[in-house]
Amino acid sequence: MERGWLSSNNILLHGATAEEGAVLVDTGYASHSAQTLALIANALRPRQGVRLIVNTHLHSDHCGGNHAVSERYDCPILIPPGEFSAIAKWDESALSYVATGQQCEQFSPGGKLIPGDTLPQGSLEWQIHAAPGHDPHSIILFEPESRTLISADALWERGFGIVFPELDGDCAFAEVESTLAVIEDLQPKLVIPGHGAPFQDLQTALNSARERLEYFRRKPERHALHAVRALTVFHMLEVRQSSLDELLTWLQKTPIFISTWQSFFCSTTLNVWTNQLLQELVRAGALRQDSNTIYARGV
Ligand SMILES: [Zn+2]
Repeated sequence: MERGWLSSNNILLHGATAEEGAVLVDTGYASHSAQTLALIANALRPRQGVRLIVNTHLHSDHCGGNHAVSERYDCPILIPPGEFSAIAKWDESALSYVATGQQCEQFSPGGKLIPGDTLPQGSLEWQIHAAPGHDPHSIILFEPESRTLISADALWERGFGIVFPELDGDCAFAEVESTLAVIEDLQPKLVIPGHGAPFQDLQTALNSARERLEYFRRKPERHALHAVRALTVFHMLEVRQSSLDELLTWLQKTPIFISTWQSFFCSTTLNVWTNQLLQELVRAGALRQDSNTIYARGV
């Protein structure tokens, strides 16, 4: 189910028979839960339920619907092992939601998706591969018979997700590179990314991801700027509209913006920098401004 940017794509893996429960990969953003539930109900076969939820990683746009879906279908949730205890204790300081100012409804994990293991569904075995870079704990799923890859935010048709550890001063561009090499070795015929349409031209996608990675490696401040722009647009997709003052206040108190400003842009003040950030997004058409109100694109 192809979604947009606020919600990641959701992938429903049917069973071998009509009655065998489906496996749902990723559940979208919390505020989209009703839409996610409706899309799932529409995609399920008659009498079929969801037997299991799995998450590629625990960003709010991939697991925000976990609570709603697991409650509706009474099914467990498997997550990558790296953040299992933080999620089980709902330790918000160790999870990304406070830092990014994003919402995620609390849920209880039922087990771990260990890289090297397989996830059986119907007659197929989905391989679990570690895919650090965008997120250090992310996994991707590969089904070798059809050569289908669920790539999450490790590889999109054009590029990949923000390399979050780099914003905290941890080197992770090398991990992006090694994850792209893992994907190249798998040689998928079909890639279902976390955002955007499924695609088949692996080589073009890898070339464009590698080009982008090299650019960011040469100019890490361009990566940081890309990240804060994307995170601001993401926030506006959630709130739809905001007064200029409210949005500036939000930017100036949300930890990921403060830390990125401190690491990359503190030659100017936080106030000047956040004003500039918004002006650039409005000029580029990513946001719309009408006197003192800022709107998400399309609102
Ligand atoms: Zn992500």
